[in-house]
Amino acid sequence: MRYLSTRGQAPAQQFCDILLGGLAPDGGLYLPESYPRVTDAELTAWRALPYAELAFEILSRFIDDIPAEDLRAICRKTYTAQVYGNVREGSDATRITPVTWLEAGEGANHRGGLGLLELSNGPTLAFKDMAMQLLGNLFEYVLEQRGEQINILGATSGDTGSAAEYAMRGKHNVRVFMLSPNGRMSAFQRAQMYSLQDENIFNIAVEGMFDDAQDIVKAVSNDHAFKKQYKIGAVNSINWARVVAQVVYYFAGYFGATERNDQVVDMAVPSGNFGNICAGHIARTMGLPIRKLVCATNENDVLDEFFRTGVYRPRTSAETHVTSSPSMDISKASNFERFIFDLVGRNGDTVRALWQQVESGGAFDLNETPFADKVAEFGFVSGSSSHADRLATIRATRDAYGVVVDTHTADGLKVAAQYREADAPMLVLETAQAAKFEETLREALGEAPPRPAGFDHLEALAQRVEVMPVDVNRVKAFIRAHVDA
Ligand SMILES: *Cc1c(COP(=O)(O)O)cnc(C)c1O
Repeated sequence: MRYLSTRGQAPAQQFCDILLGGLAPDGGLYLPESYPRVTDAELTAWRALPYAELAFEILSRFIDDIPAEDLRAICRKTYTAQVYGNVREGSDATRITPVTWLEAGEGANHRGGLGLLELSNGPTLAFKDMAMQLLGNLFEYVLEQRGEQINILGATSGDTGSAAEYAMRGKHNVRVFMLSPNGRMSAFQRAQMYSLQDENIFNIAVEGMFDDAQDIVKAVSNDHAFKKQYKIGAVNSINWARVVAQVVYYFAGYFGATERNDQVVDMAVPSGNFGNICAGHIARTMGLPIRKLVCATNENDVLDEFFRTGVYRPRTSAETHVTSSPSMDISKASNFERFIFDLVGRNGDTVRALWQQVESGGAFDLNETPFADKVAEFGFVSGSSSHADRLATIRATRDAYGVVVDTHTADGLKVAAQYREADAPMLVLETAQAAKFEETLREALGEAPPRPAGFDHLEALAQRVEVMPVDVNRVKAFIRAHVDA
């Protein structure tokens, strides 16, 4: 399987080559040259598989430059009930991504039912663990094979940084330098990251905002000599391996909600960067019977606007709202370009022209192209949610079902309600646990959300963090002092 750039001007690559890189040299995102199609017989056989074996079956159709037995071993090491053991009472951790039915629906295929696909039972209690844990094991494997090292530099407002650190802690040949805005994450998120004592994990709290931290990362990455000498890498959401790892749980969710392959499901996905739901689009294109993909945004409704109007207009950072579902507070949807590539018939020239329009005029309008009518064929519908919706949904979900959800999942539930139908189940992807967003949960419920066992005294653990002014040179000096180049 070879990988192409969405902008059509970069050489084709193998999986292991794009694993450690970021954007393609032409500024595009990598995608497989074609999507493998699954047969009915495969779907039937895969239904019975444990999650790790299902992951192997799916990933091996995209990855042919790692020997099958090694890939299988990596999947088995990654997807264990121990790693994904932070389940709510009554859920089965051995399923890795169990379904919690809020309303079970009718019959074995849960017609009309409403369920949560639990994706946040990993070490950092957010769905990013689903892919990042695999990435950690893939990185370690490939670096060992090649005798190379990597120093991951990133900026986080919360969930991505902690998922990366928990995936890379203790790994050979990998160091993580993670910048965060000093004093701006929740106490829980700070404690999660800063309490790690592993020698290969470095937390840097910059005295500024998230955007300042991100600008430092960009400045360091644009210093090509430094980047090369200190082997700087990234694990951001455009990483293809993260997307493909997420394809697996769409299959697992489908199998959890149906009994036969002639049944369809609708799935609702809380979205900001279009990373998670892009994997849903790929699963659907492979032949998984997903009927509707419901794209749920918060007040930052770039994606909802696109699916309603055909206009894609990224926002400036000044136009980006700070909300109570902060992991969806984005101004542009980085992974969206992958979907547009498929939508326009996988034509790199068309994608390049559209993104030129975005860069010069701030937007593109699909209605001015022959592709506007095609969007519906891909199953997408959308909606958005507000702070008041979020609070009301968290309360209503607790009152009706006795289940406490986080703010992002609440956005998913709110929009899912607009599209639920009696002839199929609706699965909402649960992207984080409520414990991570205690402040808003208190506002909604008047009490603290439940915490999984083992997280009770998190904030009391000793913390290890370097506080720094917003200064690229200070960050570079810190990296130099901790890396032998
Ligand atoms: C990252 C994140 C999202 C948004 O996911 P994308 O696929 O990047 O749009 C939603 N919810 C939570 C809790 C997250 O951490």
